[in-house]
Amino acid sequence: MTEVEGKSCIAIVGGGLVGALAACFLAKRGHQVVIYEYRSDIRMEKSRGQSINLALSFRGREALKAIGLENILVKYHGTCMRGRMLHDKDGNLKEVLYDSVKGNCIYSVNRRYLNVVLLDAAEKYPQVQLNFNRKLVEADLEKGKIKFLNTNTGATEDAEADLIIGADGAHSTVRKIMARRPLFNCAQTYIEHGYVELSVACNEHNKFAMSGNNLHIWPRGEFMMTSLPNEDCTFTGNLFAPFYVFEKLKTREALLSFYTEHFPDLLRLIGEEKLVEQFFEKEPQTLISIKCKPYHVGKTAVIVGDAAHAMVPFYAQGMNAGFEDILVLDELMERYDSNFAKILPKFSELRCDNGHAICDLAMYNYTEMRDLVMKKSFLFRKFLDKV
Ligand code: FAD
Repeated sequence: MTEVEGKSCIAIVGGGLVGALAACFLAKRGHQVVIYEYRSDIRMEKSRGQSINLALSFRGREALKAIGLENILVKYHGTCMRGRMLHDKDGNLKEVLYDSVKGNCIYSVNRRYLNVVLLDAAEKYPQVQLNFNRKLVEADLEKGKIKFLNTNTGATEDAEADLIIGADGAHSTVRKIMARRPLFNCAQTYIEHGYVELSVACNEHNKFAMSGNNLHIWPRGEFMMTSLPNEDCTFTGNLFAPFYVFEKLKTREALLSFYTEHFPDLLRLIGEEKLVEQFFEKEPQTLISIKCKPYHVGKTAVIVGDAAHAMVPFYAQGMNAGFEDILVLDELMERYDSNFAKILPKFSELRCDNGHAICDLAMYNYTEMRDLVMKKSFLFRKFLDKV
């Protein structure tokens, strides 16, 4: 890659949502950007499992707006969710609006589509280079040296950059390398609950089988189901439950009796065969929360997104907070004229405590969603009955 005077060469490790977004912002400022992504190009694949849709809220939208992608992702391909729809065991519904005054909503967006749009947008900048099948295996973060495994050839490759951005997700290698340094604190917590993804097909008229403008929740105390609408009138849902509950759901009979008892309305919508087929397709996935500090090394390395602050998904803010990281980084680039010696410490100062706070809120919101939300709405109903 040719050097441009006054501009830096930036290596982004990870071409997921946050890495691809960061490439767009940095390229817009004229920097030379190389993305190194472990996996193959998602745009060449038909589908890739895992959390098919994500709730995009204000923070995320602001970042997309800044690079001109808000309309395509929100207006044309996002599904508005104006509030939670709570389902009790008897099939009664209660809608709790997110914003009953101005009617603001959050948007369900397809994860894969979002990643494709961001990679396409990044690739449009001539100064962005995308390298897939490159797994970061080692780095000297102070010297800006990085070593990759080319998973196509099995060979290792070396590269250098003025700045290394670790956008390599919850199990970040960049963060693990940072963790060897003194005065770097990092705490990782696996919660004792996991999740299994399930989808609800559209109805016989090719329309939504439930309200298409809500985030649906089936709170059941210790566990819950959630479901977000998709553009094609299907829903993608998750059963979140303690692992000991999943241990009891090892047979078809156990699973069907569990759904008959706790989620009868959902069982009717998914159908017995589809439920069994989807549920046993994969093992329940784990959920991790990461709090670390600082997010940077000198003027040569920084972590963003899940690499810096992976959180449990119950506040639907993981991606949104990661997108906000890039907005903040961009604002600091403007303020300090791309002087990384000033930008990176300021980034840690501004983002670490916020990252820790959103991790805590996400953890708290699990109890809220699976348990308190129903109790509160029950108490509210009782209160209304009295007045
Ligand atoms: P990732 O999306 O994990 O991307 C990291 C990339 O780095 C990957 O492409 C990976 O292949 C690559 N990589 C990893 N290691 C290496 C390496 N050594 N070398 C090179 N590349 C590497 N967030 C929301 O805002 N709203 C939601 O509604 C929401 N729902 C969620 C539901 C579930 C069930 C889960 C699990 C998460 C949810 N999230 C949600 C969180 C969201 O998915 C993450 O916060 C977001 O994906 C983080 O983006 P990222 O780019 O930082 O990391």
